[in-house]
Amino acid sequence: MKCIFCEYCRMEREYKLKKVKLNKVIRGKAYEFVITGAYCETCGERVTIPGILDLNALEIDKQYRQFEDIVTIEEIRNIMEIYQIGKTPLSIVLGFGEITIPRYLDGQVPSKQYSEILKKALRSPKYMKEKLLENKEKITTAAFKKSMKATDELIHALSISTQMMNVICMILEELGEVSPLMLQKLLYYTQGVSLALNHEPIFEEDCQAWVHGPVYPTVYQLFKGFSFNPIDDQRYAIIKNIQNVLSVSQQNVVHLVANTFGIYGAKSLEKLTHNEKPWLLSRQGYDEGIPSQEVITKDLINAYFLDMHRQYDFTCVEGINKYINESLNK
Ligand SMILES: [Zn+2]
Repeated sequence: MKCIFCEYCRMEREYKLKKVKLNKVIRGKAYEFVITGAYCETCGERVTIPGILDLNALEIDKQYRQFEDIVTIEEIRNIMEIYQIGKTPLSIVLGFGEITIPRYLDGQVPSKQYSEILKKALRSPKYMKEKLLENKEKITTAAFKKSMKATDELIHALSISTQMMNVICMILEELGEVSPLMLQKLLYYTQGVSLALNHEPIFEEDCQAWVHGPVYPTVYQLFKGFSFNPIDDQRYAIIKNIQNVLSVSQQNVVHLVANTFGIYGAKSLEKLTHNEKPWLLSRQGYDEGIPSQEVITKDLINAYFLDMHRQYDFTCVEGINKYINESLNK
C-alpha cells in the first residue's frame, strides 16, 4: 500500500487516487477539467503526493486544448518530423516569429489562429509546400531543400491509392527486401494476375512502358530515393499504418505473385516483361533505350494475362512458375 504524510491525521496514512472535477476560468471562459486527486484513506481529506501537480498541469493543458480544438505539442512535433524541419525554420516558414514554435514546444498554448495554421500544415503537405516556397529566402538553403524533399515525398505518397499502398505494404512484408525496380515489376504482375483471376484491377493506377519495363510513376517518385531496402526507410513508416482494404481474393493474388515472380531477381523480371505483349505493344515506335511515357492500358494487360492464365493456369504457384520459366527461356 502507498503511504503519505496526512496533514489532518498528522501521521503517515494510506491514500487512494480518484478522478475529481476542477472548475477553472481561463481567458475569461469557465471550464470543467477532470484531474487526479489523492485522498487519505482514514480521514478522507485531500493529501499532496509528489508529482501530482505536474501531472495535473499536463492534464489541464491537454483538456483545454481539446475543448478549444488547439494543436497539441505532440502534433507540433509530428509536423517537424514529417516535414523534416527544425523549430526555428518552421516558425519562419509558417509566418510566425522566430521563437514562437520553441515557445509552444515549451508549453505555451498557441492562439486559435496560429493553431489553425499548424493544423492545416499537419493535414496538408500541399499547404506546407506553398508556405515553404513563399518563405524560401528566409531560411537556409539546406533547411529549405531538406524540408522540400520530405514534403514532396509526402505529396507523392498521398497521391497513391489506398489499394496500391496496401499491395506495396503486403509485398514488402512478404519479401522483406525489395528494390524499387523489383517492386515496380511485382506491382505490374500483381495487376496482371488480379485481372486474370479476379476479373478486376487490384488498383486504379496505370503503368507506363519505360525502358526497363512497366513503371508506376507515382510509386517511382515516392521510392526513387530509397536504396535497396525500402523497409528500413523512414518513409515506409508513413504508408505502413494505413488501413487494409484488400479483400481475401486480392490478398491471395499478392501472396501468389510474391511467391512466384517475387523469387526472381529484378533483372530476370525485366527480361520477362520485355518478352510480353503489353510492354512490347505499348513501346511500338520506340527504339530500344528511347524513353517513353506511353501508358500500358489495363485492357492490354487484361487480354494478355487472361490468355496466359488459360494456357498455364495462374491459380497455382506451379502454373505461374511454368510460365516464367518458359518465357525466360524463349
Ligand atoms: Zn488523514
